[in-house]
Amino acid sequence: MISKILINIIGEPRKYIWGNANSILNHIIKNNESNYIFDIVIHTSYNYEVSQKRNLNENIWLNCDNENKLREILKDCYSILSNNINIIIENIDFDIGKPYWSKNIIYFFRQFRIYNLIPNINEYDIIISCRNDIAFSQNIDLNTINNNLYSLTGSSGGYKGYGNQDYDYCFIYKKEIYKLLYKCIDYLWLYKDNKFYLRKQQCYITPIFEKREPYLEKEYYDNLGKKYAIDILDKNNNMKKSLHLCEIIINHLTNFLVENDCNFDTYTFQKFTRRLYRYYETKQCDCGKLKMLTKEKCDLCNI
Ligand SMILES: [Zn+2]
Repeated sequence: MISKILINIIGEPRKYIWGNANSILNHIIKNNESNYIFDIVIHTSYNYEVSQKRNLNENIWLNCDNENKLREILKDCYSILSNNINIIIENIDFDIGKPYWSKNIIYFFRQFRIYNLIPNINEYDIIISCRNDIAFSQNIDLNTINNNLYSLTGSSGGYKGYGNQDYDYCFIYKKEIYKLLYKCIDYLWLYKDNKFYLRKQQCYITPIFEKREPYLEKEYYDNLGKKYAIDILDKNNNMKKSLHLCEIIINHLTNFLVENDCNFDTYTFQKFTRRLYRYYETKQCDCGKLKMLTKEKCDLCNI
């Protein structure tokens, strides 16, 4: 039976989209195309604000004169992946308490919007969400996707918990879990006029894991939760912080999953066999494959 796959390509437009498109083609589509049909959704912005760590003069950004031109570039670039490409250009932002500015939470908000905007979202068996500036280091075999939720993590990072990885790189969901992600974000934040706002009942909870591993320290999350609760309710606090807001979603999502008899795939926390690279942290190895800037050889040549 042929299954339908939706690939969400997410993020403000960067120069790395051509590498990203090729990587998705070579590592996901080519090796799975006999069993699966792939549709693509691109969710991006035209006028965007960058996080305080970055600025618009950096040469990572894809600069464009106008929105139509951006749409054309994206269409040309990603047309190698599918005949069915849906390009959504909308600026989204958040206002969820003064101290917090870290923009990587928008990765989750864009997935929420895709759920809103794609009318036939329930027809897809598997949804893959990835940033538009990453490269896969190995093939993803969709026949091995047995669990409900996979997190493919990056090469650097990240959060103290969850295996010190970042969680805005790539997720692979079964469709019912994508719906849970949507419900989870809807529970935490209110979306109105292109902006996400704090809901009154928002709290911070400790994640639930199937297995307890040394790096999954309950104490760490409990303390983070206490700090978060104080900061976000303090209206006089003007200090900017880069607390990883994505952790809030991941924490709630693990709880949502447990309530629904599903679990986060802990396999990816322990064995990082499917690594991802960010293009701006990479260089070509002698063999032609991408390697980390800081490493002599790529993962394969190093074996
Ligand atoms: Zn190599």
